[in-house]
Amino acid sequence: MEKNFESKLSESAKSMKASEIRELLKLTAQPEIISFAGGLPAAELFPIDNIKKTAEELIEKDGRRALQYSTTEGFNELRNVIIKQRLEPMGIKAGLENILITSGSQQALDYSSRIFVNPGDTIITESPSYLGALNAFKLADPNFVEIEMDDQGMKMDKLEEALKTEKNVKFIYTIPDFQNPSGVTMNLERRKKLIELANKYDVLVLEDCPYKELIFDGEPLPALKSMDTEGRVIHLGTFSKTFCPGLRIGWIVADPFITNKYTMLKQGSDLQSSSLDQLLTAKFMEDNILEEHIKKIVEVYKKRRDVMFAAIDKYFPKGIKYTKSEGGLFTWVEVKPELQSKEILEKALEKKVAFVPGDSFFPNGGKTNFFRMNYSCMSEEKIEEGIKLLGEVLDEYYK
Ligand code: PMP
Repeated sequence: MEKNFESKLSESAKSMKASEIRELLKLTAQPEIISFAGGLPAAELFPIDNIKKTAEELIEKDGRRALQYSTTEGFNELRNVIIKQRLEPMGIKAGLENILITSGSQQALDYSSRIFVNPGDTIITESPSYLGALNAFKLADPNFVEIEMDDQGMKMDKLEEALKTEKNVKFIYTIPDFQNPSGVTMNLERRKKLIELANKYDVLVLEDCPYKELIFDGEPLPALKSMDTEGRVIHLGTFSKTFCPGLRIGWIVADPFITNKYTMLKQGSDLQSSSLDQLLTAKFMEDNILEEHIKKIVEVYKKRRDVMFAAIDKYFPKGIKYTKSEGGLFTWVEVKPELQSKEILEKALEKKVAFVPGDSFFPNGGKTNFFRMNYSCMSEEKIEEGIKLLGEVLDEYYK
């Protein structure tokens, strides 16, 4: 007899739905497809030889510690080297009491809504925003308030309006640098304003910062956490884009009271992040190999970005807008308002090209004429070829 377990589910599990887009995107995994759909770093650039050497030395010298349980907070040597090499250069002052190692920043996103959000509380997000965060937050059944963006980030007058009118705003979720999905970076003036508004209206800020170090043009802007005078910014970092996502090592930096809450939640969730992966990452940084690696991937991604943007200018119909991203992994394309990017994807798949329709990056839905493209994990030749094919698909809609 076939069993129906629906009635056994919690309300939040009932609300989980398989995404139509995800089903479509399964097709993009076929090797003959030129896929701009993923968000992956380029695997061919993983520093395999260096990692092999580091891992061998680690296991030989410290294997028992690397394979044993450890503390929930994470190894001190990893947290110390994150402070020295990642946070200090960004102007973020932190001690061990501020930092928790997480299993990627995705875990910290999941914990964030669990720690702060009761059903019906408000989360303010950029519009569009990172799908993985929205899905994690959804389980807490929040009220999402989307703040319109332009090419300089969230519009601060809209943010203030929302802070004035919305009740129970728990936090503002933002990806200030080379945002996923839009590729947009928040300018300095708006960063200052955002902190001023968060202080004025007494809300927390969740600063998700995976792409900051993948910068191709210009100078880096200060992290929101470095501008925070009241301890209200929770800063999330990760090695997923600068090193290897398979290691699942991320971190949060926050006021010790808040860090403690995340630590308690992590204790009951997965006890700790992998000891082996933490020590490997710490050693990789202590041996000063990571900086060199970041330089290398930035150089390759920048070239791929340049090829993609030149090809868009050459092959896409006039009138299509896209973000001139100055770093990170993505650009965001806006087509005529009456078009449906899901339908364009179906046509593109017939030509063996893929992207991600933008619909699900808007937590309250209703926007159908955007799509996201990644430029980090295809060769320059494939990028040129894929954009040309996509141009042919789009031409049909712009005759
Ligand atoms: N935040 C953003 C904005 C992301 O794009 C991603 C990965 N795509 C994550 C968080 C999660 O990354 P990880 O868990 O691998 O650190």
